Amino acid sequence: MYDIIIIGSGAGGATMAYRLADSGKKILIVERGDYVPVEKENWDSVEVFEKNRYTTTDLWLDKHDKPFRPGMHYNVGGNTKFYGAALFRLREEDFKEIKHYGGVSPAWPIQYQDLKEYYLEAEKLFHVHGKRSSDPTEPFDSEPYPNPPLPHEARIQEVVDELFNYGWHPFNLPIGVNFKPHETANAPYTLDRFDGFPDAAERKGDAHLCSLTKALEYSNVELMVNTKVLRLNTNEDGSKITEIVVEQNGETKTLTSDLVILSAGAINSAALLLESKSEKFPNGLANSSDQVGRNYMFHQNTALVALYTETQSYEIWKNIRN
Ligand SMILES: Cc1cc2nc3c(=O)[nH]c(=O)nc-3n(C[C@H](O)[C@H](O)[C@H](O)COP(=O)(O)OP(=O)(O)OC[C@H]3O[C@@H](n4cnc5c(N)ncnc54)[C@H](O)[C@@H]3O)c2cc1C
Repeated sequence: MYDIIIIGSGAGGATMAYRLADSGKKILIVERGDYVPVEKENWDSVEVFEKNRYTTTDLWLDKHDKPFRPGMHYNVGGNTKFYGAALFRLREEDFKEIKHYGGVSPAWPIQYQDLKEYYLEAEKLFHVHGKRSSDPTEPFDSEPYPNPPLPHEARIQEVVDELFNYGWHPFNLPIGVNFKPHETANAPYTLDRFDGFPDAAERKGDAHLCSLTKALEYSNVELMVNTKVLRLNTNEDGSKITEIVVEQNGETKTLTSDLVILSAGAINSAALLLESKSEKFPNGLANSSDQVGRNYMFHQNTALVALYTETQSYEIWKNIRN
């Protein structure tokens, strides 16, 4: 019997575990994957992108029931082991009603101001580097980012300068990276092979390194890997989730807890709620709206790619920590 079970060890689960660790409660984090191995293939583009070495081999079905292999990573630290660590805050407008092409997204029950202080906390935890207000769409905060912005590579800096001359506002992405003490003025380094790759040098501000390892320093926090949650069970009147059913080494078992926190990622959290059907909840849990698992959206990404024939100078990186 646990006080708190947290499902998933990604950005949400690991950070929640760290935040609750000093409560003294008996906390279990259940993670379906294992640790990402630190190996030379971590930085091998063919292994990572062509052979999909680190994504799940599970197949999902698209809306035409055609199987496909999703770009999902099931491992300790979740997708943050592979993310680009560009750590933006949501904008104030995101919490308000927004009219999209396909319909209206209703206002959230909370506002940006309700989360503001937690954003700051998270930026500290994930070692975010950036320059406040250099992005004109960023909400105001009088406290600077915890670390100075990462400088651009020399050629990119030239592009930035030219864009400024045209009246544009290019800015340094807020990036979560925890430089090692030896990576100071004299040691040149780059963040080459960062977005999409696990960071063998362990500088990426990911949930495993920034939150989970700190949470696990507390004796009341336990991590169970290679353990997949299959369904959630409620108490008799359906007011509360009290049990989770897990599969571990081919065996199925039931774990009980006073509180269950579902942080298995946007898709798998919804899938688990839908899988947890019962006589009382024929549409799955928390789904009286029939909206669980619907209206999933992905962020818009536009990239400008230019090929440059001259070798890059990394001189600028040498000065970054001066
Ligand atoms: C290549 C890539 C680049 C990205 N770049 C950025 C970026 O630059 N900036 C940004 O903000 N975001 C980025 N993201 C997105 C970001 O990684 C996710 O938004 C974030 O990790 C979500 O956190 P989460 O805790 O909700 O889920 P996850 O991090 O996905 O964690 C969920 C965890 O739950 C586990 N789990 C799932 N189902 C079960 C189950 N049934 N039982 C037990 N455990 C389970 C998973 O194994 C996983 O560890 C990127 C993602 C990818 C893949």
